[in-house]
Amino acid sequence: MRIILLGPPGSGKGTQGGLIEKKYGFPRISTGDLFRRAVKKRTPLGKKVESVMNRGELVSDDIVIEVVRERIEMRDCKKGYVLDGFPRNIAQVHALKKIKPEQSEMILDIVLDDEAVIERLSARRVCSACGKPYNLLLGNSKEKDECDLCKGKLVSREDDRPDIIKERLRVYHEETEPLVDFYQREGIYHEVDGNGPVSQVFESISGILDKQLKQVSEITEALS
Ligand code: AMP
Repeated sequence: MRIILLGPPGSGKGTQGGLIEKKYGFPRISTGDLFRRAVKKRTPLGKKVESVMNRGELVSDDIVIEVVRERIEMRDCKKGYVLDGFPRNIAQVHALKKIKPEQSEMILDIVLDDEAVIERLSARRVCSACGKPYNLLLGNSKEKDECDLCKGKLVSREDDRPDIIKERLRVYHEETEPLVDFYQREGIYHEVDGNGPVSQVFESISGILDKQLKQVSEITEALS
């Protein structure tokens, strides 16, 4: 089973993906995190993608698809995984279908309007040392500018600047939003209201996932 998290930047895909990983044991694969790590380590991949990311544009399909393919082929992904930030356009949708085509897919689209996205991303902070995310709106760090875990400095992500947020939203509406229609026609699409507290959003997600997993296990049982 592959769970695909859709939704605009800042809708909570990372947070909810982390919670799914914790509860259901499906590893969360965030292409954004994989790229940010590569940038931080100054690897050849990191050097290739850094400026594109800082502009809020999409990294080229061939690069992203290769990164995802390699990650999905790892052993911990055998039973399933959560994709956060991939696919982001129709070409990536088709490329994903060719990687392990036997795996069933389900889409969880975390819906949030542009105004809420801008408000959230402007208040988002990450630890410059360990990467743990915080949000000033939620007041979820003990100190305003220090990580609770490692005492690293809390900073804004380079691509959370107002002009770049605008560009990321433009790219989202133009390139990623058409996937909603595509997946709806496939009958594997589920919408989740991204407003409200993290726990409430996760409750909706858990409800959908529990139902889906039950169906999958019933089908597997019937076939065996
Ligand atoms: P995210 O953390 O998911 O918002 O991703 C941060 C940035 O990484 C994006 O703005 C893109 O530049 C790049 N990125 C992440 N995932 C993809 C993808 N599937 N396709 C192209 N670029 C991506």
